[in-house]
Amino acid sequence: MRLTLVVPCFNEADVIARFHQAVSRELAGTDEPYEIIYVDDGSNDGTLAALTEIAIADPAVRYLSFSRNFGKEAAMLAGLRHAGGDAVILMDADLQHPPELIGRMLELHARGFDQVIARRTRSGDPATRTFLARTYYWLINRWADVELMDGVGDFRLISRRAVDGLLKLEENNRFSKGLFAWIGFDSIIFEYENVQREGGRSRWSFRKLFEYGLDGLLSFNNKPLRAAIYVGMLLTTVAVVYAIWVIVVAATQGVEMPGYVTLIAAITGLGGLQMVMLGVIGEYIGRIYYETKKRPHYLVKESNLTPPGVVLGGAASSTYRLQSHPDEVRLDRG
Ligand code: UDP
Ligand code: MG
Repeated sequence: MRLTLVVPCFNEADVIARFHQAVSRELAGTDEPYEIIYVDDGSNDGTLAALTEIAIADPAVRYLSFSRNFGKEAAMLAGLRHAGGDAVILMDADLQHPPELIGRMLELHARGFDQVIARRTRSGDPATRTFLARTYYWLINRWADVELMDGVGDFRLISRRAVDGLLKLEENNRFSKGLFAWIGFDSIIFEYENVQREGGRSRWSFRKLFEYGLDGLLSFNNKPLRAAIYVGMLLTTVAVVYAIWVIVVAATQGVEMPGYVTLIAAITGLGGLQMVMLGVIGEYIGRIYYETKKRPHYLVKESNLTPPGVVLGGAASSTYRLQSHPDEVRLDRG
């Protein structure tokens, strides 16, 4: 069985060499043929130079480098597209995903699981983040069409047919946690102790996390739109009942003028609600807008991926510019 490791890297110059060492040691121990695909997501800290060096020294290494930062989702997609293995393991470059778990993943895969998912504990995470995460997962599991689990990320082994399934999902706005859940197949989850990152720093600010959370809510269902309809219907009912009451009172007791407070409260309250609902609709329209552009998920600047038919060997580590996927636009310098 051939294994492909896909590693998205964004500004990981600090740890990438250490990562490669650790992971190679682990992979050599499994006695299976393997390749490692590093995807440089437009780093500006020498990650690409480090990868080129690693690739020259190790013929099992493929790398490709994006023309700019396209995000982890795009980087993972690129890796999956080029993966030649019968199984693929997705791993972060910062050593937060312990390489020692690779053996365990392969074992579980051999038992017939298409997705072997590593779930981290939350030990060492700030309490507020843990709390927010818990609340979020509670919320999203009541709403979204797919089931998401706290602590489950991208660290997993995916079988060939599951990878092929993922590659059929061509949406631009990729919420991978949801995509993994969407494809289904037999999955198994095992837990591992949370690890702090070895160097560099995390790209997740609170705001980014919040937006990511919103993405998750919106990518996998249209319930917010439904909710808008229900709230609208409820308010209409209340308004009709109130109108009838006002008319009855006016008819029997004449019109009395006061009502300022009710009026202002209704105007501001309803105004706010309408803005929120417009926002929800706008979110979905925005998504449609981006999807209809059909832009490629990323552009490749450089890679050492072997064009089909080229014999591996010393030549494998020299740089090729190629168009190996219809979505990858060739960018020739000069
Ligand atoms: N990453 C990437 N592109 C980005 C941000 C991150 O390829 O725009 C990579 C990063 O190099 C790492 C992985 O995705 O290998 C996870 O990123 P990070 O450690 O920042 O996230 P966290 O572990 O805090 O969730
Ligand atoms: Mg990390």
